[in-house]
Amino acid sequence: MEKAYDEAEIIQRKAKILAADERPGSHDYEQANKSVDKENELVYEDQKTVIDAGRQEREDAEKIEAIRAKLASNEIKSELPKKLYRAFTINPSKLSVEKLKETLIPLNANGSDPTKISDGNELGVYMSTNEQMVEKAYASGCGTNIAIKCPKFHDGYTLVDHIKLPSCGIILEIDTKNLDIRKPEITPYLQGIYNNGFQGDEWIADAIPANHYKVKKFILSRFANDSERFETEVADNNIEEAMDLIKTEFQKRKEAALKYKEFLESIPEQARINGYGLKRKWQKYLEEERSEAADYVKKNLESFENVEIKKLSALPYWNKISKFLSDKGISDGEVVIIDDEKSWESVYGSNDSKSSHKPKAIILKKEIFNQENISEENISWLIHEIGHIEFYKNLGDNLDEYMDEYHKKREYAASEMEKAAFSTQFEYLKSVGKTKTECLGFVEKYLNKSFGKDQKEARRKELEQIESYITSVFKY
Ligand SMILES: [Zn+2]
Repeated sequence: MEKAYDEAEIIQRKAKILAADERPGSHDYEQANKSVDKENELVYEDQKTVIDAGRQEREDAEKIEAIRAKLASNEIKSELPKKLYRAFTINPSKLSVEKLKETLIPLNANGSDPTKISDGNELGVYMSTNEQMVEKAYASGCGTNIAIKCPKFHDGYTLVDHIKLPSCGIILEIDTKNLDIRKPEITPYLQGIYNNGFQGDEWIADAIPANHYKVKKFILSRFANDSERFETEVADNNIEEAMDLIKTEFQKRKEAALKYKEFLESIPEQARINGYGLKRKWQKYLEEERSEAADYVKKNLESFENVEIKKLSALPYWNKISKFLSDKGISDGEVVIIDDEKSWESVYGSNDSKSSHKPKAIILKKEIFNQENISEENISWLIHEIGHIEFYKNLGDNLDEYMDEYHKKREYAASEMEKAAFSTQFEYLKSVGKTKTECLGFVEKYLNKSFGKDQKEARRKELEQIESYITSVFKY
């Protein structure tokens, strides 16, 4: 006789139930354990005799027949719930209004039987009368696995090689008016965990058009009972507002994770693996980084007036660059902003932005870089400087040596450092829709400003070099 279930699936189911609410004594906990016990019984029975299994099948058939008969009667029709709930998780960076206006269709179609979903239950879009159940079982960090890869470290419990990011749970409220819904046929061995062992009933529909559901709530969490869980209710069906909140929060989490990854990369493997004092080292790392821009100001800008240190994320156009940066694995940092035109000219010359490698700092001219209506071209120069800082960071202890060589060689654009900075810059410009020709135009403008009329040959050489970077960025 064919085995009606496989063990791995049952274990998976159990894990799901236990994750729902792990507090002993709670109602959910009791329910969940009852279900697990029942499953154990079933496992045992199935192994016992074929006759028992046959009887079970007959009983199941009777139950299903009874449900059918009930469904056919008007009595149960009048009991149709007005509202049902359903939840799922997605990667927060893939959230979009369009995604939440799609018709819902059954997922996990069963490969061997198209009338069933993967766990053997009847095919359909599943809903429940119990909102708490769908939230706990389907919207709390399960389903999607989003993490940032990093060097192996001790997270306080165990060794891991990634930093987990939250996924986004979405809870839908379904209006059943004029929607064709029915009770699903549940595979006998799963009846013990019907509705995930919670109070309430499960219903299904073949499909749910968008006008029958609305988003009730978004939840960011990494796992069940996440202490850093973040949620927002959708008020007045204003999905966009709630979605923006979730996206901003997710971005923050991602940036924090990237920063932590940078920190892990900056310390020796032994310190990461034994985990001792990791927290203290992390605090120190943050403090030192915070002080680098301040250090630069103290060493170089004593005579300047109106100098300000700002976080990148505090710039008025941060929303335009944050996604690009985090996609590239770059976290928030600080910039020095100078509002002293005269002194600027005397120290930094014709460029409006600059980067320093020791201490590491980005220095920006205020009138260009501290305003909302900044051009993409100007933003791209900030990205260029960020590219420099990333290059310095990646060199680690070899930075001084590299910079000595760089100054000796005097190869400017042909250096690995400028290659990294210009490539990041053009990738940004490409990402905001600028063409290859426009990028070339920006570079020519910049070179004309930097080189005198008598430096034609040097100017031509640099242009050629930078053009090759543009070409390779636009190749794909
Ligand atoms: Zn540069």
